[in-house]
Amino acid sequence: KINSPLEAYKYLPQTNCGECGQPTCMAFASTLIDRSGKTTDCPPLIKEKKFAKKLAELDRLLAPEIRQVTIGVGERAANIGGDDVLYRHKLTFFNKTKMFFDVADNMDEAAIVERVKKISDYKKFYVGRNLLLDGVAIRAASNDPAKFATAVKKVIENTELPVILCSFNPAVLKAGLEVAKGKNPLLYAANKDNWKEVGELALEYNVPVVVSAFNDLDGLKTLAKTFAEAGIKDIVLDPGTYPTGKGLKDTFTNFLKIRRAGIMGDTEIAYPIMAMPLTAWMAGIADPVSASYWETVLASIFTIRYGDIMLLHSMEPYATMPEVHLAETIYTDPRSPVAVDSKMYKVGNPTADSPVLFTTNFALTYYTVESDLASNGIDCWLLAVNTDGIGVEAAAAGGQLTADKVKDAFEKSGFDLKSDVTHNSVVIPGLAARLQGDIEDKLNVKVMVGPMDSGRLPGWMEKNWPP
Ligand code: SF4
Repeated sequence: KINSPLEAYKYLPQTNCGECGQPTCMAFASTLIDRSGKTTDCPPLIKEKKFAKKLAELDRLLAPEIRQVTIGVGERAANIGGDDVLYRHKLTFFNKTKMFFDVADNMDEAAIVERVKKISDYKKFYVGRNLLLDGVAIRAASNDPAKFATAVKKVIENTELPVILCSFNPAVLKAGLEVAKGKNPLLYAANKDNWKEVGELALEYNVPVVVSAFNDLDGLKTLAKTFAEAGIKDIVLDPGTYPTGKGLKDTFTNFLKIRRAGIMGDTEIAYPIMAMPLTAWMAGIADPVSASYWETVLASIFTIRYGDIMLLHSMEPYATMPEVHLAETIYTDPRSPVAVDSKMYKVGNPTADSPVLFTTNFALTYYTVESDLASNGIDCWLLAVNTDGIGVEAAAAGGQLTADKVKDAFEKSGFDLKSDVTHNSVVIPGLAARLQGDIEDKLNVKVMVGPMDSGRLPGWMEKNWPP
């Protein structure tokens, strides 16, 4: 296993030709290690026959401990697995947990279409990006191949999202596969009773497949090993998700054991894991709000430890919002804080008389301030100062937010406090009050210290603006 750019460099052509977009082969080697680049980005390595052996070896050495499996095709294809570490702070977790929501083939067609559209159209804006749902799991509740095929057709006609075909009946799965040809669906699932037929289907249609053994890790490993030996590479593990009590404790332990073994080098079980928070609906909870709540609790547990893909049911906002937020948070790269571009932003329709404020380019800070201003109808200019994505208080203490940095940010933005506004003043965050004197000296402007919390900006503006 390769862990450093120097080791990866040995396998590169070492000509520094620049065709990969990097100035040197060593710089390119760094992108391989942090996975921002792929070996296919180096044309000489790919094209020249003399490098073929090195390329194969490099690909093998760079492969993640946990196999990456792709479900679906095109832009919305879902990659799962691909991790190298047990703890996020050791590197980062790759491939955010993918959330698939169920439809059943015994729903009427209009209801299927409506639900599929709801899943596909889901969008939650969060710190500068839209959080989305990832796919549709089609359950063969009817156990009827024809009925299942009709439902699969309806789903794939109405979404670009990847799908999971769910049945333990090989005839039903085959009917779904025929309709979903070319869509690379995930087959759910092979178990101890049907593994031979389902394995043949996975090979025949060349699709990823789930192997399932509830609370039986030896059985699960045996199935995965058998499939791998048969030539099936894209395997997902389902150790069962028990929703409550000792079963839930066992489930949690199973997830830990599987992932630990995979990361520690047991290749026979180094595959992505599937969790099924929708089993909350089978836990005998009568009230749907409570079932949704419990489903969200299960989703949260297995987002943190180590569900790579999930089957979910509740689409209530109080269920989906915490689920997508948590996955986004756990899977952000701890090596690079989420940041917005450092520049001058317009909030509303500012004029030359509108206030000028600044905050840092840490996305969470920026969007909080921007939303507090915009939602209160405060038209203004808001500068995001580059603090390497660090929030105001920490940046002011750590030297990433200084009067020089603020001056630099104004200059780079092209915004001139003397000519672009009439008041030659700037409102600084209360948490950066210590910079008031320095900024006054460096920018030669009137500095007004705003509130400690941007939520108080509307009240502060009423009292203090215009200056
Ligand atoms: Fe080196 Fe390949 Fe990049 Fe050329 S394209 S600089 S050979 S890594």
